[in-house]
Amino acid sequence: MAYTVDARLCPQNHRCPLLAICPVEAISQEGFSLPAIDPERCIECGQCMRHCGKHAVHKVEHDG
Ligand code: SF4
Repeated sequence: MAYTVDARLCPQNHRCPLLAICPVEAISQEGFSLPAIDPERCIECGQCMRHCGKHAVHKVEHDG
């Protein structure tokens, strides 16, 4: 599994508060753009998914 941010749900108009929530700094964001979750760093704790106010973080199957 991996975590991904849905561009249709994320308003991309503010600094993502999840950057401070992720315990392993797996989430990055250029300006107010769509945040990216690094699958190499992510420990799949689910904190970002629970805390996103827009419910924009989803769990997805890895591709292959
Ligand atoms: S699931 Fe946990 S470790 Fe992975 S990006 Fe979200 S907060 Fe960070």
